Amino acid sequence: MSARLDGKVAVITGGAQGIGLAIARRFVDEGARVVLGDLNTAALEAAVAELGGGDVALGVQCDVTSSSDVDGLIDTAVVAFGSLDVMVNNAGITRDATMRKMTEEEFDLVIDVHLKGAWNGTRAAAAIMREQGSGAIINMSSISGKVGFIGQTNYSAAKAGIVGLTKAAAKELAHLGVRVNAIAPGLIRTAMTEAMPERIWESKMAEIPMGRAGEPSEIASVALFLATPESSYLTGCVLEVTGGRHI
Ligand code: NAD
Repeated sequence: MSARLDGKVAVITGGAQGIGLAIARRFVDEGARVVLGDLNTAALEAAVAELGGGDVALGVQCDVTSSSDVDGLIDTAVVAFGSLDVMVNNAGITRDATMRKMTEEEFDLVIDVHLKGAWNGTRAAAAIMREQGSGAIINMSSISGKVGFIGQTNYSAAKAGIVGLTKAAAKELAHLGVRVNAIAPGLIRTAMTEAMPERIWESKMAEIPMGRAGEPSEIASVALFLATPESSYLTGCVLEVTGGRHI
């Protein structure tokens, strides 16, 4: 079988580690060239080297809360690799606390990185893809946005907001050949979740019918499906990848 993303160019925010890097690995394995945008320049450098260097992967320092940074990230893909076929808005952070303790800054920052970041990426990618008449945009939501988690009023709100953004953008762009979908992962083993206290990790595990956490590669394979014509009639959807949790 030929590579499923041969000749395609993908931009992945938060691509220096975790789920974003797993998506980059999978896309490169399928023949894509990728541009990773991330705040962490040391991790970006290591990721680019691991992916095979500058012929297939580039790293751009980018803060997704800044529309000019995101525009610059996308420009890099178009100038260096010639197009933008897949945009993955994946960068994320957590600042968990119950509302008694959460500061206004922690609320604003999480909304900015996830929701504004995904909007910046969706808008900038749509501008290129609209002209091209094709493209796939993939936004990273979370099961936290569907059910709401204690201590995540900021994160759950941002992730639910990403679902609304995805659906509205899907409707705006459908007639232009651009599809917009979201992935809502459950508990995936990355630096973000490994920072959780053991007790919280165990309580989440107890809710998972499959009885295990997911691996970043299991989100990457769903992203690959959304990036290719195999999902050609799918837009405005949220694919829950949770091992059956909170269905
Ligand atoms: P991670 O912490 O391993 O990676 C996140 C990456 O985003 C890091 O490289 C970080 O430097 C980058 N980043 C953070 N703020 C940024 C900014 N302002 N601009 C650019 N880059 C920035 O986390 P992960 O688990 O790989 O999470 C990836 C995405 O998946 C996030 O949107 C997260 O909310 C979502 N998600 C994760 C899980 C999980 O269980 N791990 C579950 C549901 C959703």
